[in-house]
Amino acid sequence: MKVIDHLHSSDKTLFSFEILPPLKGKDIRSIYAGIDPLMEFKPSFINVTYHREEVIYKDRGQGLLQKIRLRKRPGTVGICAMIKAKYDVDTVPHLICGGFSREDTEDALIEINFLGIDNVLALRGDPVKSEPHFIPERDGHAHAEELVRQIGNLNRGKYLYEEEQEASPTDLCIGAACYPEKHAEALNPSTDIAYLKRKVEAGAEYLVTQMFFDNQRYFDFVERCRLEGINVPIIPGLKPLTNLRHVAFIPKTFHVDLPDAYARELLKCRTDEAVKQLGVEWTTHQAKELQVRKVPSLHFYTMGRSEAVKAIASKLF
Ligand code: FAD
Repeated sequence: MKVIDHLHSSDKTLFSFEILPPLKGKDIRSIYAGIDPLMEFKPSFINVTYHREEVIYKDRGQGLLQKIRLRKRPGTVGICAMIKAKYDVDTVPHLICGGFSREDTEDALIEINFLGIDNVLALRGDPVKSEPHFIPERDGHAHAEELVRQIGNLNRGKYLYEEEQEASPTDLCIGAACYPEKHAEALNPSTDIAYLKRKVEAGAEYLVTQMFFDNQRYFDFVERCRLEGINVPIIPGLKPLTNLRHVAFIPKTFHVDLPDAYARELLKCRTDEAVKQLGVEWTTHQAKELQVRKVPSLHFYTMGRSEAVKAIASKLF
């Protein structure tokens, strides 16, 4: 079932979450171990992130450089298919522009469709570490908007080449990302929302937000989107901070602020356990307020760990 149909068929706030593919060499059981504890809360859909390869150059001597592509977490689409088959729950593979030509994208979409997956989250992806800014693949997409348009074309039976025009249309529900605190590269919130509107007009049927720790940021953002004529469901993304590492890297990596009251308490935490207890408390408080305001779904970023999300979900669902 499509995410948009889940959202439209319920007047209650749904529960959903995002997982990461395991590191290379691990097996699918490590994925199940993260999902099993959350199934009692009946997730409507589970997202699986996509991780682009990193490129490194090795000096092979005599002026020769070898280009090596490293992928730490492959397998997004296969993992979605396995989860769907095992738990009978809808899955949402993330698909990015980075590293994909339009042909690669079409192949990935055909595979998603073959496997009976009804959804895709269309993203641009971040620049790889060796690039100063995002550089699209040759013949790839520079922005998620173009990827959304390509998926929409496939849904209308419009494949890349005329020779393929007898292929059947797909019927994929398209989601996209948005940023209550503005995307890091956007010149300002207005330009970010203007581009977001184009992404929705291109065919994104719903949006999922970057994590945020202050609900007011989400409420203000949704209000602003509505004023600008963006009327699709906007699903809030929530992340409980569970260790001292999170405190150090999350604000910097995801370009999000922690509210004063939360930051003050976090600064007093000396152990991972203390951060986790506080994180569960804070996110539960956020989630309860969002649930009262009847947001479409509470979407949790698990980053491969389910205990904190389980503790929160058990107070809500
Ligand atoms: P875009 O919508 O293309 O926006 C990127 C920037 O370009 C913004 O500043 C925007 O304002 C601007 N812009 C947009 N359209 C245009 C245009 N037409 N012309 C000029 N400027 C434009 N990354 C991964 O690698 N894998 C994942 O699985 C993944 N999952 C994510 C899930 C969610 C819910 C979120 C919020 C992010 C996720 N990301 C993931 C991170 C995401 O790929 C990065 O934040 C990336 O930098 C932007 O992606 P986007 O799809 O929002 O890009």
